[in-house]
Amino acid sequence: MYKVSRNTVEILGVKIDNLKVGEALERIEQLIEEGRRGAPKYIIKPNTEIVTYAQSDAQFKKILNNADLAPPDGVGLMIGSKLLSSGLSQRVGGPDLTEAILKLAEDKGYSCYFYGAKPKVIEKLSLVLKKRFPKLKIAGLRHGYVEKDESVVVEIKTVKPDILFVALGYPKQEKWIATNLNDFKVPLSIAEGGSFDFISGETKRAPYWMRKLGLEWLFRLIIEPGRIRRQMALPKFLWLIFSKRK
Ligand code: UDP
Repeated sequence: MYKVSRNTVEILGVKIDNLKVGEALERIEQLIEEGRRGAPKYIIKPNTEIVTYAQSDAQFKKILNNADLAPPDGVGLMIGSKLLSSGLSQRVGGPDLTEAILKLAEDKGYSCYFYGAKPKVIEKLSLVLKKRFPKLKIAGLRHGYVEKDESVVVEIKTVKPDILFVALGYPKQEKWIATNLNDFKVPLSIAEGGSFDFISGETKRAPYWMRKLGLEWLFRLIIEPGRIRRQMALPKFLWLIFSKRK
């Protein structure tokens, strides 16, 4: 086993990896190998909402900072990084990274378990995965509205996936992974956020040009105006960054 030195930056006390998608995928392969042989690994995908929320929840911040990889998600973090001159090179997280990991899993034969999202989303996800990644080993799928999640842990321990994707929304998904990690001993767990909704096609993604311009948030706001309250995290995040710069 060889140790890889991480190139990280800190934004409002949260450690974030500064790397490209290809580097993230290489690191993920190494983490699976390391997780198979030793302590289980986990990935979080920080965005402005997560970093802002972490300011008022020390336990959550600790879970974020103990992650084995934290690729940046969302244009807001890139703006914050520019303001702090911390030099994050590109946005890596989000559904694009999840799709790249699924391709990697299909190619390398890693089995995957999916936990989270609404029942109809997980049904759609199962069909989409079979169509788009026909050779992917699917160890199991469970929606995220079960009353007692102990049964999910039991199932995961039985089917022994290589990668566990958890989409329960923050901070629930990160806390759930941190609590159960050493029990189910999956080599690599990933806190996903809303990726299952996107990959299943349940939530429409912004057109490519909007994504390229970093306007995915605007598209989401147009189709789901109710998200305005959540998107207020961005001005709060920027305010925190400005107060830090003084
Ligand atoms: N979710 C879940 N169980 C819960 C709460 C949320 O499975 O108790 C799912 C939700 O259906 C969605 C995902 O968690 O698929 C992420 O939710 P959210 O929209 O909050 O994520 P975001 O992309 O904004 O981080």
